[in-house]
Amino acid sequence: MGLVRFRRLLAAVLAAAGLLLLFSACERKADTVPAEISLDFFSMNTYVSLRAWGTERETLQAAKGEMEALEALLSVTDPGSEISRLNETGAAELSPETAALLDRALALCRETAGALDISVYPLVRAWGFTTGEYRVPEKAELDLLLETVDYRKIVLEGQAAALPGGMAVDLGSVAKGWAGDRLAALLREKGVQSALLDLGGNIQTLGRKPDGSLWRVAIKDPAGNGILGTLAVADAAVITSGGYERYFTGEDGSVYWHILDPETGSPAHSGLRSVTVTGPEGVRCDALSTALFVMGEAGAGAFWRSHRDFGMVLVTEDGRLLCSPDLADSFTPEKGTKYAFEVIPDA
Ligand code: ADP
Ligand code: MG
Repeated sequence: MGLVRFRRLLAAVLAAAGLLLLFSACERKADTVPAEISLDFFSMNTYVSLRAWGTERETLQAAKGEMEALEALLSVTDPGSEISRLNETGAAELSPETAALLDRALALCRETAGALDISVYPLVRAWGFTTGEYRVPEKAELDLLLETVDYRKIVLEGQAAALPGGMAVDLGSVAKGWAGDRLAALLREKGVQSALLDLGGNIQTLGRKPDGSLWRVAIKDPAGNGILGTLAVADAAVITSGGYERYFTGEDGSVYWHILDPETGSPAHSGLRSVTVTGPEGVRCDALSTALFVMGEAGAGAFWRSHRDFGMVLVTEDGRLLCSPDLADSFTPEKGTKYAFEVIPDA
């Protein structure tokens, strides 16, 4: 065999081998397109739906266990929870987990100047939002209860918490966001690169979609069953608070919802129907969605301009749909939406 022929043969063999390699690479790729697994359950008073790609069922079972463990610590309706024990006795040595969330929640109360106030629980209870036995308390009753509402009086030293004179805390405004962060961290530790966690409408995304594209999270129309638009995100929480989630109609025909203005003790009427907040951290998004709902359009706009580390979508009672300037490219209003869409001015 001449040298030239040998070289040609070698080239042909190598080319064929390369092609084979290419085929097997394709095959391997097809084999490893990660399979989707999902787990649905009820926890923290809401439907939870976990979807993850490229992991085992046990991973989601562990995430479910984590959420149930958090609920057992934090629930205000479970008399055995740590928070209930703290509320009942006025002082308690907390677990590291509960203390960490309480500490974070207090920081968020300070940051929002009390629009978020985790000490509103006596009011929440008086309105019947925790039990479902709704009522409209008299003004005198609200005034009396308001004397026990002030997050600045909550003492937390390490894991030792104390609530002076009749105070009680409710971490309901931040617990699901916190849980989303914890579940995402757990999945990440198990090597999951792509997951979509729906904690009762609080969305936590992990990584990107398995095909590498962004998640498109739909935001509900607070006035109906449809959607307002979609937000394209990765590794982010998308959390909505609104007057439409939990409410009742009083004998006077008025609608009363579960987000209270800590100044008045009554449902917050700030001109907003819903607030969606997106950012890397669920607990902060959860806290801000509640707080910005209390603040209203002007307050929320000012808060955004002085922080700029989150995105927000507001729906006003007068039919406008607003998004913060950072979301101008990632938020897409639903085609044909009845809302007038505007991007909030940057300054
Ligand atoms: P949801 O839990 O329905 O998603 P939020 O995150 O907005 O909604 O939390 C609302 C809950 O937080 C209420 O059910 C109540 O227990 C509590 N809450 C109501 N108003 C406030 C407030 N201004 N600050 C802190 N917690 C509040
Ligand atoms: Mg909240």
